[in-house]
Amino acid sequence: MHAVQFESHGDRDVIAYDEYPEPEPAADEVVVDVEAAALNHLDVWTRRGLPGIDLAFPHVPGSDAAGVVTETGADVERFAVDDHVAVSAGVSCGTCEFCRDGEPTMCVDFHLLGEHVPGVHAERVAVPADNLVPVPDGVDWTVAGSASLVFQTAWRMLVERGEIRPGESVLVLGASGGVGHAAVQIADYVGCEVFATASSDEKLSYAADCGADHTIDYEATDFAEAIREQTGHRGVDVVVDHVGATTWRDSLRSLAKGGRLLTCGATTGGNPETDVNRIFWNQLQVIGSTMASPGEVDDVLSLVWDGTFEPRIREVLPMSEAARGHELLENREGFGKVVLRPDSEL
Ligand code: ZN
Repeated sequence: MHAVQFESHGDRDVIAYDEYPEPEPAADEVVVDVEAAALNHLDVWTRRGLPGIDLAFPHVPGSDAAGVVTETGADVERFAVDDHVAVSAGVSCGTCEFCRDGEPTMCVDFHLLGEHVPGVHAERVAVPADNLVPVPDGVDWTVAGSASLVFQTAWRMLVERGEIRPGESVLVLGASGGVGHAAVQIADYVGCEVFATASSDEKLSYAADCGADHTIDYEATDFAEAIREQTGHRGVDVVVDHVGATTWRDSLRSLAKGGRLLTCGATTGGNPETDVNRIFWNQLQVIGSTMASPGEVDDVLSLVWDGTFEPRIREVLPMSEAARGHELLENREGFGKVVLRPDSEL
């Protein structure tokens, strides 16, 4: 059995695709024969090393995968051999005050498969049954293996936390990335007027394909100025910012009075300069969001399985070329999801 793995934190040269122990399911786990497993920026951060997270090495990265059930633990009733399943990476304790209050993503011990514990970029993986979602027959493996993390993140952020409503204006930054392209599709589906930023004509037309009504090249234009111009100096109701340090102040500048700034990540850094005066005077809200509850995951993935939402596939690579996949993400080459498939499946 082969798995993508690394023996230490570092650059892409630490990534290997080597022998790894065959998974043995615990009573509440299911063994999945992986067909497709997407990369997320999280895999890059995990490889480089995250403050406060001590990994056991070798570490297998990966928070997204889909495949076929080959074995079930003694206590598993929800899945059977040959079922098609997708992984949802969030793990909660089930007993803390937030879990008991129905908010598993706020669990005091919340963690992700692949980030804090072994992940799913492997030929076979043992995954808790609670972390699996059924996939209908006929759904393409690359779609099934790449939708979960970004679509659940965007869905909870926009629909549950941001409470976007039809007719509102929503600006999505970095619209050609994983969460960005999901956010554009969801805001368009809800009936919002969608503004999107990206960094090239190709990525802008791709954002328009996903449902953006207006696109802004953030490298050629001050996007906050462009938003002011395009909204009659009003600003937008909602900004989706998963970029962080380089965009935060301009995100605040782009908001209308009473607007909401939604954040689920900070790929350029987590300690931006902010503008407190603007926040209180304009009565803005800053709303954080992480992953999604099982019910929210079911809601959004059912809309992926029926084709309403579509994870765009940038490239499909054999797992032995996982380092090349990391390079595509780090260099921001192209748009959409980079998907790994076990070499034995190709
Ligand atoms: Zn908990």
